[in-house]
Amino acid sequence: VESVQWTFDKTTPDDINGELRHLAEFLATKQFDLVINLPMRGGGIRRVSSFMTHGYRTRRLAVDYSIPLVTDVKCTKLLVESMRVTGRNPLMKTHTDCMTSRRIIKLPGFIDVHVHLREPGATHKEDFASGTAAALAGGVTMVCAMPNTNPSIVDRETFNQFRELARAGARCDYALYVGASDTNWENVWELASQACGLKMYLNDTFGTLRLSDMASWQRHLSRWPKRAPIVCHAERQSMAAVILLAHLLERPVHICHVARKEEIQLIRAAKEKGLRVTCEVCPHHLFLSTRDVERLGVGMAEVRPLLCSPEDQEALWEHMEYIDVFATDHAPHTLAEKQSERPPPGFPGLETILPMLLQAVREGRLTLEDIKRKFHRNPRNIFNLPEQPQTYVEIDLDEEWTINNAELKTKAQWTPFNGTKVTGRVHRVVLRGEVAYIDGEVLVQPGFGQNVRSKMPLPQKLEMEGSELPSDMDANDTFARLLTEGTSTPAPRAATVHFVDEANASTSPAAGSFLRPVSPSPRLRLDSNTALKDYLQKSSALSEPNPVTHCLVGKHILSVDIFDKERLNDLFNLAQLLKSRVTKDRPVDDLLRGKIMASIFYEVSTRTQCSFSAAMQRLGGHVITMDQVTSSVKKGETLEDSIKVMASYADVMVLRHPEPGAVSRAASFSRKPLINAGDGVGEHPTQALLDVFTIREEIGTVNGLTITMVGDLKNGRTVHSLARLLTLYNVTLQYVAPYGLGMPEGIMRYLHQRGINQVTFDTIEQALPTTDVLYMTRIQRERFQSEEEYQRCCGHFIVTPKLMTRANKRTIVLHPLPRVEEISRDFDSDPRAAYFRQAEYGMYIRMALLAMVVGCRSTAL
Ligand SMILES: [Zn+2]
Repeated sequence: VESVQWTFDKTTPDDINGELRHLAEFLATKQFDLVINLPMRGGGIRRVSSFMTHGYRTRRLAVDYSIPLVTDVKCTKLLVESMRVTGRNPLMKTHTDCMTSRRIIKLPGFIDVHVHLREPGATHKEDFASGTAAALAGGVTMVCAMPNTNPSIVDRETFNQFRELARAGARCDYALYVGASDTNWENVWELASQACGLKMYLNDTFGTLRLSDMASWQRHLSRWPKRAPIVCHAERQSMAAVILLAHLLERPVHICHVARKEEIQLIRAAKEKGLRVTCEVCPHHLFLSTRDVERLGVGMAEVRPLLCSPEDQEALWEHMEYIDVFATDHAPHTLAEKQSERPPPGFPGLETILPMLLQAVREGRLTLEDIKRKFHRNPRNIFNLPEQPQTYVEIDLDEEWTINNAELKTKAQWTPFNGTKVTGRVHRVVLRGEVAYIDGEVLVQPGFGQNVRSKMPLPQKLEMEGSELPSDMDANDTFARLLTEGTSTPAPRAATVHFVDEANASTSPAAGSFLRPVSPSPRLRLDSNTALKDYLQKSSALSEPNPVTHCLVGKHILSVDIFDKERLNDLFNLAQLLKSRVTKDRPVDDLLRGKIMASIFYEVSTRTQCSFSAAMQRLGGHVITMDQVTSSVKKGETLEDSIKVMASYADVMVLRHPEPGAVSRAASFSRKPLINAGDGVGEHPTQALLDVFTIREEIGTVNGLTITMVGDLKNGRTVHSLARLLTLYNVTLQYVAPYGLGMPEGIMRYLHQRGINQVTFDTIEQALPTTDVLYMTRIQRERFQSEEEYQRCCGHFIVTPKLMTRANKRTIVLHPLPRVEEISRDFDSDPRAAYFRQAEYGMYIRMALLAMVVGCRSTAL
């Protein structure tokens, strides 16, 4: 140990003959092996990691130059003690930059879809600069600002003003709402692509924006594009009414700040009926109740909806799985206003939501996953907000602290949670690669925030959730989105709605209107190309090219090669949620209602045909069938003619043909999407998809597994497609096949090039100990030279309970069915026998595939 003197900045050149060197120089030339940087006791620095102190810069430099770093006093003592024990040259792991006993976790940038930033009109309460500073301090990187300002944001002029103010003031990213008024229904929808959504106030609240009667609701609900969000302040009866009305008008709706038992029960019932409703709940309804009114003071406790009873609060927590979104309804007023004669309703909330939620995690009432889902993923999905690149929030999970009015960034300078002890604190917020907030300091200036709608207008099609298994709640969202897609293009006016108002129908919009049922126009079909083009030209922002590159709409499914990992995840997630809906007996039959699938089988396959038919019918579609025996094929009609004719009847076709390549030939003259249901020894993509889906559902993952394929691997098309599909995962393949019927060399080479480890065994017994999935296929007797040879070797390829005693308890057995002798019937009752479940999974896969391929008609045109 030798001591050196250093400084941060070169001061004067004659400083002790230049001995005082810049710290970075020492570190850059690795003259230090270890940096120990400790907080100074009572040094006036609030926390060890305060930004921009010399200490911070020392630590930062150490990290940047990969020098091991110790920042904790206890660790330093231990280290010094151990150095004393181990002597001069302790074994250091120098690849370790820094170790800490603090539990810092990284969470996504949070999205608050309900904030009031009071600009324009009431900037003494809050403005874009102060409100977004509060957001960042609370770990929120994107806010959606409400339009009940002064003036209210209700038309192009006020919206442009709103945008300018936000552009100049916002520090975090944002989207802006427009408000629905009794008079702006004719034009406000033109702002749909630039706005976060349309806010409808159906009850009295702060501000003047309020819709007086249901005719106004209906006008807005029918004109605002279905793909663009509508959010409603709707309590009690109003909530029930607007959910029903939105349902009748076939559009999704988001309900703000649900607070009452009967309200959340209603949401639940609506969701269970498959209605496209989503909802949010605010922290003050989850963590405060009428019990707190006395403590807070009546004026301070004023909020809309009112603080709920403990019983209501209990109901909210019990229905957590039906709550899609956490939002603050950040509604700042000054202390003086709240303590006045006529206290306005509303609480600030941006800085306290995350600490309160983290505290609930600490207490076991929520999980981190809940927070990520309801405060990031679901808001993004429901409101169709873009991903913020390089954006995250670092949380110190163990820091205990007390919420304190004095530390708040909001101009309001108070919170109903003042004095609450919590554990878990926002440490750092990184927004688009910039450190926007660190330990109490907001580092980005007003104007740093971007309007996510002008950067990225509402996409043409809504995206499916990415790579993870949807839970029940995600399922609801994904489902809602999927339903939206079917009718996603905002229609030429009145064409999409079940109810039109008289006035509009007679092209004199000024006249009074009333609800009138129109029959029988179910969902809009964009059959008229002119109407669509007409529309697309009118609304260019909404017609930008589809950013979702993995969209399968209108695509032929000829081989598994069309699937990359992302598409596969989309498909599996959808199949999984369809499965969950079907098994819970929840409706899915409006997904493809009125659509027709043509089932064309030139080769008998009862199972595949039934599975596809069941899938289509469960989605509400119809099936027409054509087979070789009864159709005009008998009279000599060519495949080409048959396909062209069937394409004119149906929305999607499912084709099986005995000749390899026949299906892709058919696809080349089909103008409707065509799904390959097997062509000779060629491909059978849906079988491979359902096989992988089965593995995923049964075991939970595909990665890391060893899959043993048994049987005639030379001629079995299912194993060929399956093996190719498995190259998307990190798996080991084992083969057990009779002599001469092994996996073709071409396929083995293909797999080898993609890094798949392959092992060949002579018997199942040898392969079993390492097997996670045993994939049995049929061995055809006629492939053998003689009966004796078959008898001699077939024993090696039959699954029996006895054989399976050698297998792992969790090994599953799959078979594409029908089986002959490969699996003894005695084994059927074993829980590891997954082949009948596999057949059922097949139906869900085909449902998902049909929904994705038929899904969105407008982009297929
Ligand atoms: Zn609000």
